Amino acid sequence: MGNDWTKEDVYRTYNLQNWGEGYFDVDEEGHLVAVPDKGTHKIVINKVVEEMKTQGIKLPAVIRFHDILRQQVRNLNRSFRKVIEDANYQGRYFGVYPVKVNQMREVVEEILDAGQTYDYGLEAGSKPELMAVLAYNTNKNAMTILNGYKDEDYLRLALLGNKLGRKVVVVIEKFSELSRLIKLSKEMNVTPMIGLRGRMAVEGHGRWKSSSGEKAKFGLSISEIIQAVQFCEEQGLKDAIKLFHFHVGSQISDIRTLKDAISEGGRIYAKLHKMGVKLEYFDAGGGLGIDYDGTRSDKDSSMNYIVEEYATDIVWGLKQICDTEGVPHPNIVTESGRMITAHHSCVITNVIDQVKTSQTSFNTSKVTGEHLIVENMRDLEESLSQKNFQQYYNEALQLKEECLNAFKLGILSLEERAKIETIYWKIMSRINVMTKSLEFIPEGLHSLDDDLAPQYLCNFSVFQSIADYWAIDQLLPVVPLNRLNEEPTLNGSIADITCDSDGKMDRFIDRESGFKSTIPLHVLKENEDYLIGIFLTGAYQDVMGDMHNLFGRLNEVHVYSDPEDPAGFYIEEIIRGNNASSVLATMQYNPEYMAQKMKQLVNQEVVRGIIPPREGVRLVDFYEECLSNYTYLMTTLGE
Ligand SMILES: *Cc1c(COP(=O)(O)O)cnc(C)c1O
Repeated sequence: MGNDWTKEDVYRTYNLQNWGEGYFDVDEEGHLVAVPDKGTHKIVINKVVEEMKTQGIKLPAVIRFHDILRQQVRNLNRSFRKVIEDANYQGRYFGVYPVKVNQMREVVEEILDAGQTYDYGLEAGSKPELMAVLAYNTNKNAMTILNGYKDEDYLRLALLGNKLGRKVVVVIEKFSELSRLIKLSKEMNVTPMIGLRGRMAVEGHGRWKSSSGEKAKFGLSISEIIQAVQFCEEQGLKDAIKLFHFHVGSQISDIRTLKDAISEGGRIYAKLHKMGVKLEYFDAGGGLGIDYDGTRSDKDSSMNYIVEEYATDIVWGLKQICDTEGVPHPNIVTESGRMITAHHSCVITNVIDQVKTSQTSFNTSKVTGEHLIVENMRDLEESLSQKNFQQYYNEALQLKEECLNAFKLGILSLEERAKIETIYWKIMSRINVMTKSLEFIPEGLHSLDDDLAPQYLCNFSVFQSIADYWAIDQLLPVVPLNRLNEEPTLNGSIADITCDSDGKMDRFIDRESGFKSTIPLHVLKENEDYLIGIFLTGAYQDVMGDMHNLFGRLNEVHVYSDPEDPAGFYIEEIIRGNNASSVLATMQYNPEYMAQKMKQLVNQEVVRGIIPPREGVRLVDFYEECLSNYTYLMTTLGE
């Protein structure tokens, strides 16, 4: 590290330690490192990228740190176990991972493997998810929880699981599902495990608050719950009701929401038990948050509690209610998805160019006969000083406006307009520097920083790789991978390579205000890659991206740490991203037809003598090669 730019500065600038949860750090050479065991073993992320390169894997790419997944599974289960022991709570913890959060087979397998000793299970919300879960969650002690709306096939698949001796609980979201389930269970001659989803009065806050509350899409009202119990009793299946479930929404930012939900849900459980419903499981749903911006607050992208506190509030809250009501402590289920997967994957992209509003090297020197506006703007530039910059700021703005009007009237030439705009941006840059030494920055000059900020053009698609950033304003941490031992001297934002003006990032985490519109970056060097990581993309982002502009799925590498290895890691698996043919095929194009057609069109020109035959062959080969290439850009800086 340099003398006056230290690790502490890096931590402060990117809030690394607060969102990183100990999984990310910076080394002495200024490289960003992953710390999968939160201990001393470090993986330089840039080394992973270099190894990818030697194997022909291009950026952008997703890197998965499988050890982080395992660590999160352990962390969640151990937290619950410890609190349960401390509280002398009589039930057990049976967590399930909701596969919708990241359905990648390798992710699900890793989670199951790490969770084996805790009898950690899976949750599914659709038929395809259930089919995967039935085949993969084979531990008979682990729970399988089924949510979402269900048709007959869905219910038959669930009962098939019960026939195989698995703890498959069908959570009833709507009353009609119950009669269907019971009818089918009799047909298939197997006892179902019934769960009841309560539609709670408590509402979450923030983006997912509509998951709960009286107008929620899912769940049974209190009167429906009572009717459901009566119906089961009539059918001789009262004892098949095993679980009470609720879900107040994802990303619970404020711990008070959870406390409220436990108070309400705990009472419903206790009263049902007193009505003779021998519930064995209390399922508090998902919602365990991730501190994306690292502010430890109740803002939408943050959370004001830690995992241990979450476990404590559930276990102690339930214990207290059960003890006062005189009912047994139920086993506890949670469906935490975001918490398990968010940290383990990141998107690595390379800057391919930059877009500046301002600085150009256009020659602005004086020539005879120039228009007065050019002269006036130049005069401003020459006499600008610390004393007059506020006044000059206003005058420069006005001159620029006059310039545009004069141009539209045909009075100014293209050269004159170019000169005026170039000088204008020079003036603004200087004023921006001058304001930095002020204690009070005058109104209007605040936005100068943003106006002058360059956009780094990054090789990725917001719509494919960080869908929630675009769709619901999800903040995600962004950090350069290298040069962190140098002070980043400019503030910039990020633009992606789609043709969509929404394809950009101009909201970044900030530890004081929650978010800001630019992020500190380094000045680009010619012919030196500048790599940027977007972090905490393992939950939802990995699997929700769309095909905007036909940029397809990213290349992906699965990394395991290995303290014996010289680089400290090995790449266990490479999954190639989409090539042009495969994304075109998803939109019903036929790449073979396209190649044939292009060949035919080229041949026609060869026959006409427009294209020489040798070149014709090369052009056809080139087109075919492009079909099999990665959809993202191959350019690097300085080209
Ligand atoms: C989406 C969902 C979850 C997962 O929530 P997280 O906040 O990611 O933990 C759990 N349960 C249900 C019913 C869900 O719909």
